[in-house]
Formats: sequence, structure tokens, C-alpha cells
Amino acid sequence: MRASQYFLPTLKEAPQEAQIISHQLMLRAGLVAQASAGIYSWLPLGNLVLNNIARIIREEQNRIGAHEVLLPTIQSADLWRESGRFDAYGAEMLRIKDRHDRDMLYTPTAEELMTDLARRFVRSYKELPQIWYQIQWKFRDEIRPRFGVMRGREFYMKDAYSFDLDEASARASYHKMMVAYLRTFARLGLTAVPVRADTGPIGGDLSHEFHIVAKTGESLLYYDKELDRLMQDPSTVDVERLMSLYAMEETMHDASNCPVQAENLNQARGIEVGHIFYFGTKYTEALGATIMDASGKSIHPHMGSYGIGVSRLVGAIIEASHDERGIIWPESVAPFKVALVNLKVGDVACDTMCADLYAQLEKTGVSVLLDDTTQSVGAKLATMDLIGLPWQVRVGPKGLAQGLLEVKNRRSGETQELSAEAVIQMLTERLGA
Ligand code: ATP
Ligand code: MG
Repeated sequence: MRASQYFLPTLKEAPQEAQIISHQLMLRAGLVAQASAGIYSWLPLGNLVLNNIARIIREEQNRIGAHEVLLPTIQSADLWRESGRFDAYGAEMLRIKDRHDRDMLYTPTAEELMTDLARRFVRSYKELPQIWYQIQWKFRDEIRPRFGVMRGREFYMKDAYSFDLDEASARASYHKMMVAYLRTFARLGLTAVPVRADTGPIGGDLSHEFHIVAKTGESLLYYDKELDRLMQDPSTVDVERLMSLYAMEETMHDASNCPVQAENLNQARGIEVGHIFYFGTKYTEALGATIMDASGKSIHPHMGSYGIGVSRLVGAIIEASHDERGIIWPESVAPFKVALVNLKVGDVACDTMCADLYAQLEKTGVSVLLDDTTQSVGAKLATMDLIGLPWQVRVGPKGLAQGLLEVKNRRSGETQELSAEAVIQMLTERLGA
């Protein structure tokens, strides 16, 4: 993409209302624009990040055999009356009347509609287990929307639902999902600590929240330091071992009865980016969803539900990965992998070199934002640091005279002078498709 033709409305100063760094940087880097309280428009750069996160989530859900569906955002109140949640959900649910005066709602979550699909289309134990997921907008009329996309009213969520014959098999699905979450967060460049959670209004008896440790987190966590060591390589984590370690939110932590010695206990603030539940037959009973078991008996399938806050993750990644100059995207979610900065637009050698590099990198699947604007060098470099692409390649007349380009790694700040061939080789090896 050529910056001169792109839509990248960056801001010098963060608007007053943005209190935390991720909100400030998201507005300054032109990722989102507020549409109304707790509701955001996603601009091109932000939309690319959102889609990259969704793609990684999707790959890891598919890997455990979950099937992607897409359910409506506007739902009839009828099903929610069957479960009792049309009244129980409270003011967070956005209720709507259609022209026939029928009660509708904007989905805050989708247990009812998913359970209804199982009720209508799954007949036998032979069809189980099933895990269905979607990545879809949700609406919750949060009393205090704040911190930008971190606590929005409209937000993007991955929500999955598992259906199993019995508790043992449902726990196996829960397990699989936990592994998928650990892989997902690791690929997003994050360490997400699984914390034992209160099951709240969704109910049930087994639940974990996944928290990104960050100073601005809304939750206070207490957890066994062993978790930090285990999470250094989440791909090899033994889930049983992980689940056996102490990790609680403040509301569930009791210092006087804590099984972990004070010196082995970490205290940190966390941002909740995922939440998983096993809740047995709560919804299948309420909605009368039954299947035939192996002996021909009619039973209610056991369910779990599993959320990830996709739009919240954009903010959480920035909270975990930034410096005083701006965002530092992990390569896996970066909107473009490389910022190619033409330091002297109009200089034939610079223009030709940039056009060449751009074409060669794009050809090998490395996405590039070419800064071909006529801003000052200082402004260009500040913008590129702000938007946080992992690699910067700077092309200027002085270096070119010696056949050299400057390559900077945004995270380490390290710069190298390399020939064009060496730049292409290094970047395609690291980043190419
Ligand atoms: P919270 O305690 O933060 O309100 P929750 O327990 O209500 O979260 P779930 O119903 O489990 O959240 O939703 C799944 C995920 O969706 C959460 O882990 C979080 O990452 C995300 N999420 C929930 N509410 C919001 C919101 N208002 N804005 C952005 N993301 C949200
Ligand atoms: Mg909530």
C-alpha cells in the first residue's frame, strides 16, 4: 500500500477523553474513530489488525475441530424467554421492538440460539461431540463504557459452544479449548494467564478467565509464580498441571486461606481477554434440547461456552506492547509487516529503489506500507514509529550513494545498514509467505 493513497488519519495529540495508553495510541495511529459512546468505527489500519487477530483465532478453533457458523445479531426475544434470560439479563441487554411490536434484542452472547440449533438438528449421541463457533459483533449496554475498545458497548467476540454426551466428554472439550486458547494467545505474542473464575450469570461449575498482565488491567490477580515459568512456553504446557495451580481474581482470593506461600505468590493487574465455562445441562434443560444416548434413552447434552474478546485484544496487545513513541505490533498481527520509508520523494534513485523493493517484497507475500508522502523526514519517522510496523526500511540518497539502506527493528530499536539484496533476503526469510 502506498501511504500517499491510503486513508490513515493519524493525530499528533491524543484526545482528552482517552485515559489509557492503548486508547490514546489507537486514536492517534488512526486505527479507530469513536462513533458514539462505546461504539467505534474501524479504520483501514485497525480493520487489518482486527482481521489478523480473527484469522489466528479461527485457525486455532478449526485445529481443534470446531466448526464456524454465523448467527444473527438481532434475535427474537422468544428463545430468551424460554431460558429466562430475557428478564434476567438486565439493562446490559439492548432490547428492540420491530414494526409489529415484537420484542427483539441485539445479541450480547449466543447460548440460546446455539442451543436451539442443537435442539432442532442434533438427534443422536453419534453426532457428538460438536463445537460451533462464530466471530460476530455483540452489544452490551455497559453502564460505564471506557478505555476505548477495551470496554465498548458494541464489540467483536469469538464465541464457541460445545455439546457433549456427558460430563466427562464435556470436560475433554473444555480441555481442548484451553489448549486452543494457549496457542492462540501465544501466536498473538501475548502471555495470558488462566485464572479460576466465578461462573456468574452464565452459571455452571468450571470456569477460567484468561488475563493479560498489564498495569492498566481492571482485575487484580493473585497467582502461583510457577504459572509464569510454565507460560514461557505455552505450546508444551500440561493443561492439568496448569489448572492445578493457584490463580484467582481478587474477589475469589482469600489471603488467610491461600495454599501458596506469600513468596511464591504473584500479584498483578490483568486484562480479561477470554473466558471459558462448563455449565452442564443448564441451557439444554431450559430449552428442552435432548438427544438419544447409546442405550436409546433421551438425555440433555452437556454444554460449555468459550469467549474471546477480539476487539478488546487490539487494545490489550497495545497495552502489553508499546513504548513512548508508539505501538509495537507483534509480527503476527501487524497491519503491514514492513514500513518502507522513502526519505526523499522525487529523487530518482530513491523512488526507483522504493518501487523495486516494494514490488519484490509484495511478490514474496510480505505486506508493505510504502511511505511515499512528501512530509518531512522527522514527521515520517515519527508516524512510522507511532503505527508500529515491525520493520522499517529507510531509503535515502546518502545511503544509496554507497548502495546501502537502513533497516530498523521497531521492537529492539536496532538498526543495520544493508544492501537491497540483503534486505530482501532477510525480510522474505523472516516474513515471507
Ligand atoms: P467483563 O468481566 O470484562 O465484563 P464478561 O465476563 O462480561 O467480561 P464474557 O461474557 O465472558 O465477558 O465475554 C467474553 C469476552 O468478551 C471477555 O473475556 C472479554 O474479553 C470480551 N468482552 C466482554 N465484554 C466486553 C466489552 N464490553 N467490550 C469489549 N470486550 C468485551
Ligand atoms: Mg461483562
